[in-house]
Amino acid sequence: MYDISKIREDFPILSREVYGKPLVYLDNGATTQKPKVVVESLVDEYYSVNANVHRGVHFLSQQATELHEGSRETVRRFINARSTSEIIFTRGTTESINLVASCFGEAFMKEGDEVIVSEMEHHSNIVSWQLLQARKGIRLRVIPITDAGELRLDVYEQLFNERTRLVSITHVSNVLGTVNPVRDMIATAHAHGVPVLVDGAQSTPHFAVDMQALDCDFFAFSGHKIYGPTGIGVLYGKEEWLDRLPPYMGGGEMIKNVSFEHTTFNELPYKFEAGTPDYVASTGLAKAIDYVSALGMDKIYAHEQELTRYAMQRMAEVEGMRFIGTAAEKDAVISFLVGDIHHLDMGTLLDHLGVAVRTGHHCAEPLMRRLGIDGTVRASFALYNTKEEVDVLVEGIKRVSRMF
Ligand code: PLP
Repeated sequence: MYDISKIREDFPILSREVYGKPLVYLDNGATTQKPKVVVESLVDEYYSVNANVHRGVHFLSQQATELHEGSRETVRRFINARSTSEIIFTRGTTESINLVASCFGEAFMKEGDEVIVSEMEHHSNIVSWQLLQARKGIRLRVIPITDAGELRLDVYEQLFNERTRLVSITHVSNVLGTVNPVRDMIATAHAHGVPVLVDGAQSTPHFAVDMQALDCDFFAFSGHKIYGPTGIGVLYGKEEWLDRLPPYMGGGEMIKNVSFEHTTFNELPYKFEAGTPDYVASTGLAKAIDYVSALGMDKIYAHEQELTRYAMQRMAEVEGMRFIGTAAEKDAVISFLVGDIHHLDMGTLLDHLGVAVRTGHHCAEPLMRRLGIDGTVRASFALYNTKEEVDVLVEGIKRVSRMF
């Protein structure tokens, strides 16, 4: 059913070696590898369809436009949005969050207004709001976490007041692997009349997300973390919100009519897509979505959950192993430290054994401060990883530990 060796053949990079050792790629939280169908779609489009999209009367432009708009429909179906008007192509999660911070902030926030974020946010969901803070004098309210790495939901409920304008939280922590109960958190926010932005960078690659079931107001994710190309991502927004927001950038595509006296803006989603979009990358993203959908998000989830459980079990054999993030609901991300071995030393030595893991603060310095550490080693799994690779990781960690 889930034929892992056949799946791995779809990803040519997985058969390469580093330092003469088979590559064990466990840095999927940072970016995933790409299946052939995705890379080939990019080459095919440049070789046989390439033309700027929209407005073109000629054959190629219309074909490129059909592909691009077809990709939007693929994204819509994948996340179960109501309409393609709600799917905005961006460069990735970071740009999507910045778009909301900028446009929502412009339209609906003034000095003293508050945004609720959490202690486990990626910098992109902190600094975007701090830029708004500098411009408008808004305030950030922060949901604390428990030692296991779960959100303190009791405190969350107490953070709402008449100045709360938005909740902006991550679906899955890129450091702790914690899967936050965003559906309930959205319901709580809505009970206070407050909309919610969900950072889906680390959830979309691992399990199915459903905009209508979650009822979230904005949702951001990146193509490159879900086996698609770099430089493309998505902002989902409920039409009723997007309609009320001002444009993000000015330029071609996003206008209806322009004069020096008065300019009118295009309809959704084009109002938020100034300039030539990355229409080739959108095709690649759609191919990646088709790829994971054909495998089945439920099967991918089951495979990765089994790998994560197996890895936690095997890694616990290592003396001095300390897991950072032990939430009950945990995704395929394992952060750890061993004894007093520095994360950089562990990462560098594992690298020489062919194992690619990430080390450092993972763009979550406030979380590191909360945990009283300056970094972790992070192994993050994808649909193509195997138990044998986990064994290589564990043997590697043991070997490094013996050296210290
Ligand atoms: N949010 C989370 C939780 C992430 O893990 C990342 C990337 O690691 C981002 C946002 C930023 O994504 P991107 O760099 O693709 O914009």
